[in-house]
Amino acid sequence: MKLVEGSASCALSVRGLTVRYGGFVAVEDVDIDVPYGQVVGLIGPNGAGKTTCFNAIGGYVRPSKGTVEVHGVRVRSSNPRSAWRAGIARTFQRVELFWTLTVRDHVELARRLALKRKRTPPEADEIFKILGLVGLEDRVVATLPLGTNRLVELARAVATGSTLILMDEPCSGLDHVETTLLKSALEQMLAELSLSLLIVEHDMDFILSIADTIVVLNYGKQIARGTPAEIRASQDVRRAYLGNADASDPKAEPEAEPVRASTS
Ligand code: ATP
Repeated sequence: MKLVEGSASCALSVRGLTVRYGGFVAVEDVDIDVPYGQVVGLIGPNGAGKTTCFNAIGGYVRPSKGTVEVHGVRVRSSNPRSAWRAGIARTFQRVELFWTLTVRDHVELARRLALKRKRTPPEADEIFKILGLVGLEDRVVATLPLGTNRLVELARAVATGSTLILMDEPCSGLDHVETTLLKSALEQMLAELSLSLLIVEHDMDFILSIADTIVVLNYGKQIARGTPAEIRASQDVRRAYLGNADASDPKAEPEAEPVRASTS
């Protein structure tokens, strides 16, 4: 189903997004809306085009066609800096931090940048409290476990003053305990700050439990969009994941290597 024209009731509005790598069409005619204050999940089997979509929205890949609007304003240049200026912050599937710096350094550097751009990011201490990082502020990030560093990345994204955050597979590499901690941190963050999230994720249980709406891609095309209950019930989605419409819920990839969890 096609959506109507994008509007400023959405933090992010993507229309007709198409990305080609040479002659290969990796993403074709995809529409995504992230309404203010909501969490939208972007899912699909391996190679479906999720990362490509995400990278096109974040300015890392130039789309062949389509438009990206952030807070009702069209983003015209395809580079990460323009995306940030438009109001997008992101986290990465492979955590990208400055390994010799502390948790506080990451947040303060991002806040400084935000203030320079006349934004009003939350206070650093508020961010630490919301994301469960109190007591870890002066730790060098290289000494922290992966689950905690995902929260540091999120803290940095919030500290940029951007209210639209793109998260690329936040559960990747996390064990069950860390995933649960991440989920409660996100819930706390959404309850206390006015944020809108677009999350690419393979962990079905996680995304079905946290997203308001889910967009499903397969072979670069959008095959479904709906609430978690609708996606759970969709035969098209089951078929895409399992090649069998009679199978039970679409499930996540095999569990990742456990990582020692601690955010306290
Ligand atoms: P995964 O869940 O495995 O990360 P994905 O849904 O994120 O997959 P993409 O990484 O976006 O999928 O890839 C979509 C398609 O585009 C795949 O067929 C992939 O091989 C292809 N592709 C991705 N990046 C490039 C590139 N730089 N050059 C050519 N083809 C690419």
